[in-house]
Amino acid sequence: MSVGLDRGGAEAADAADPLRHWRDAFHHPASKDGDPLVYLCGNSLGLMPRTAATVVQQELDDWRTLGVEGHFHARRPWMPYHEQLTAQTARLVGAREVEVVAMNTLTVNLHLMMASFYRPTPDRHAILIEAPAFPSDRYAAVSQIAWHGYDPATALIEVAPEGGEETLDMERVVDRIERDGERIALVLLPGVQYYSGQTLDMARLTRVARERGCRVGFDLAHAVGNLPLSLHEWGMDFAVWCTYKYLNAGPGAVGGCFVHERHADTDVPRFAGWWGHDKATRFRMGPEFQAMRGAEGWQLSNPPILSLAPLVASMAIFDEVGMPALREKSLALTGYLERLLADRLAHAIEIITPRDPQARGCQLSLRVRRGNGRGVFDRLSDGGVVCDWREPDVIRVAPVPLYNRYADVYRFTELLAQAVE
Ligand SMILES: *Cc1c(COP(=O)(O)O)cnc(C)c1O
Repeated sequence: MSVGLDRGGAEAADAADPLRHWRDAFHHPASKDGDPLVYLCGNSLGLMPRTAATVVQQELDDWRTLGVEGHFHARRPWMPYHEQLTAQTARLVGAREVEVVAMNTLTVNLHLMMASFYRPTPDRHAILIEAPAFPSDRYAAVSQIAWHGYDPATALIEVAPEGGEETLDMERVVDRIERDGERIALVLLPGVQYYSGQTLDMARLTRVARERGCRVGFDLAHAVGNLPLSLHEWGMDFAVWCTYKYLNAGPGAVGGCFVHERHADTDVPRFAGWWGHDKATRFRMGPEFQAMRGAEGWQLSNPPILSLAPLVASMAIFDEVGMPALREKSLALTGYLERLLADRLAHAIEIITPRDPQARGCQLSLRVRRGNGRGVFDRLSDGGVVCDWREPDVIRVAPVPLYNRYADVYRFTELLAQAVE
C-alpha cells in the first residue's frame, strides 16, 4: 500500500508503522522557542537514546564508589566492557564474533587496518579509492602511501563518476580493478558513499579485487545501522565504521572494526598494544606480545568506558529492532520522500542519489536546480529542519527509520517547497 501524498497520508502511515514507538526511545532536539525540529541528520549525528544517560551515569557512579575495583566489580565490569557488544555487533554487520571489535575511532582503525593489510611492494603498491572520497579516508590513504616511501601521485588510483554522472558506474569500477589489479595493493571503498548516498555492491567488488590478488577494505561509516550487511560472507579483509551516525552512540563515540576470520589465527603484522594481548596472560606483563584471536587482537589501549557506555545503550536498541525491520521501513520512508519530491518539487530539486532503492540506504542527496542551494539550505534551517550541507552544492537528508516519521518527511517537503520559492 503506498502512502498518500498529503498530510493525512503521512499521518495514517505513522499510525500503521510497527516501529512507531521507537521514536520515544530517543531525545528529540527542539528550537530555542521549544518547537520540535524536523531532524533528518542521523547520517551525521544520530539522536541520543533515552537510555544513554542511565548507562553513562552508572559508570560514573561505579567509578565514584568503587575506584579501581570497578574493573571487576562495576555493574558492567570495565575489564571486559567491550565484550558486551561483541555478539550484537556481529549480528548487526553479519559477522562471526571473532571478526568484530568496538575500539578507537574510524580513522584510527583505518590506519591500524592499513598497517596490517596495506603491505606495498615495488610492483604492487597502489591504493584504489573512490572520488570524491571522504577527506579523512583520502588523507589516510595518501599518508600511508607516502609513509611507505611511494608517490601518491601515481600510487593513488581514484575512480570517479564519469560523463556528468553523479554516481559511480559499478562496471567501470570493476573494469578498473581488473585492469590495474596487479599493481593494486589495497582496494578501499565505501559501503555507502557519503556524498551521493550510493551503495556499492560490496560482495562483487570484494570478489573481483580478491581474484586479482588485492586486499580489500570497506569504510562503513554510512552503511552500518543503515543497511543489512553480511561481512563474513562477502569476504572483505577488513571494514571500519564509526558509531555516532546511524548507530546513535554520541559525538566521537568508540568505533567498530571487522577483520575477516581468515586472518584470525595468522600472525598478520600489526601495531600492537597491551589490550590486544591474549587476555589470559595480559596481566603477567610479559615482554612478548601474543595477539588475541581475531579482531580483538588489534586493540591497543584499555578502552574509554565513558564513550563505550552510550554504545551499549544504543546497540541494545538495534539488537531488539533488528536490521530487517529497519530496512523495510527505511525503504518505505525514503521512497515516500522521493515520491513527494517528484510530485511537488521536480522542477526545483534534483535527486543525485540512485533511484534504485537497492542502490541506496536512507539518505537522499539533493541538488537545487536553479539559484542558490546554500540559501535554500539556510532557509530550511531557519524553518526548523536539521539536515546538512555538503560543499559544493548538496543538501543531504536522511529519514532514519528508527526515529523519523512519515510526518517528518511530509513537513520537510513542505518547508523545502517554501524555501525554494
Ligand atoms: C563520518 C566519516 C568519517 C569520520 O571519521 P572519524 O575518524 O570518526 O572522525 C570518516 N570517513 C567517512 C567516510 C565518514 O563518513
